[in-house]
Amino acid sequence: MTKKFYIKTFGCQMNVADSRVMGELLLKSGFEKTEDPSTADVVIFNSCSVRKHAEDRLFSNLGLTMKKNPSARFILAGCTAQRFGEKLLKRFKKLSAVLGPGEIFKIEKVVRDVLEGKKVIATGRTEYRFVERRADISENVVIGRGCNNFCSYCVVPFLRGREEYRPSSDILKEISCLVESGTKEVILLGQNVNSYRDPEKGLNFCELLDEISKIKGLLRIRFLTSHPKDVPDELVVLMKKNEKIAKHIHLPVQAGSNKILKQMNRKYTREKYIEIAQKFRSEIPDIAITTDIIVGFPTETEEDFFKTEDLVKKVKFDGIYVFKYSPRDGTSASKLKDAVSEEEKQRRHKRILDLARKISLARRASFVGKTCDVLFEKNEIGHNSQNFLVFKKGAKKGSFLKLEIKDVKNEMLLA
Ligand code: SF4
Repeated sequence: MTKKFYIKTFGCQMNVADSRVMGELLLKSGFEKTEDPSTADVVIFNSCSVRKHAEDRLFSNLGLTMKKNPSARFILAGCTAQRFGEKLLKRFKKLSAVLGPGEIFKIEKVVRDVLEGKKVIATGRTEYRFVERRADISENVVIGRGCNNFCSYCVVPFLRGREEYRPSSDILKEISCLVESGTKEVILLGQNVNSYRDPEKGLNFCELLDEISKIKGLLRIRFLTSHPKDVPDELVVLMKKNEKIAKHIHLPVQAGSNKILKQMNRKYTREKYIEIAQKFRSEIPDIAITTDIIVGFPTETEEDFFKTEDLVKKVKFDGIYVFKYSPRDGTSASKLKDAVSEEEKQRRHKRILDLARKISLARRASFVGKTCDVLFEKNEIGHNSQNFLVFKKGAKKGSFLKLEIKDVKNEMLLA
């Protein structure tokens, strides 16, 4: 009988992309996918270790699913698997395998092994390989893995390793294949896409974007994530002139105080960040700039926090992901005294969120009366170039329409 697998993803878009690859490899080897973990023979949790909250949620979910489906085999993949390795097999007796993010391409073998009753630890690093898949309208394409930056609060460089980039020929082949099967938008993924360097031809990120934009039938290119210290002027120029590149940049600022930025090892100042944002806004007036902010970093005083609020008001972000700081073992920030109380973190979190909401609503309202190119990833629901959600009654999945924005409701543009 065909064996069924279930995958649940925690964490970032890189994990979403990794789950997609694992699912596709298992389907190709004859396994069947189920959306119900209680009917699965193999349950895979693709985990995230970046924040403590995500890790706690993962462990409680894992324990509950093990109780509900005691006969299934369980695989813990992703960053948490990499972080704790064998220790997890001791902690969860029902767990059969730990599979780090560098070994996802081994998933078929790992699934076969656990079905035979073996215990598996796979936390090495295998070469990235292009996996053909059934294309959706918008597809994630991983251009590189790992990070060299060592921000003081972040576990990614320890768990996903140092930066490694795929050759442009491989990336272009993957995107061409996707476009032939119906993809209209790609989201290039990497921990730090701006430092892309083609290992074969030496192309930089802007040159890669330029090459990708020549693919016929591809309508839009997005990318995630950009580090503010690595944004070249060339990127602003390219985004301005190349119609296929979405008018949106996600540029995590993390904090608005130079003292905190230094302790975070971010390698830019608030002044530099504001200068970059202003450059984008003056060259590409309708660009959307989104960001990540951490509140309650150790030693963050009220004054430091005001500087973050002030920066948010100055840049007028179109969207902000706000996180409460939580120390992660092994990082240099975890050695600092976590001086900000939980209540204070909560208060700062809410203040930034409220401010962010007010600004992002005003930004969206400024689009009323304007015309936008909207790509519909689902019937009636799409995104414009700025990545704002757009609703249009009757619009068909896959259509790319020029639409006038008539109203805004709950952060959604109505066309
Ligand atoms: S740039 Fe900093 S925050 Fe982003 S993955 Fe690298 S170390 Fe982590």
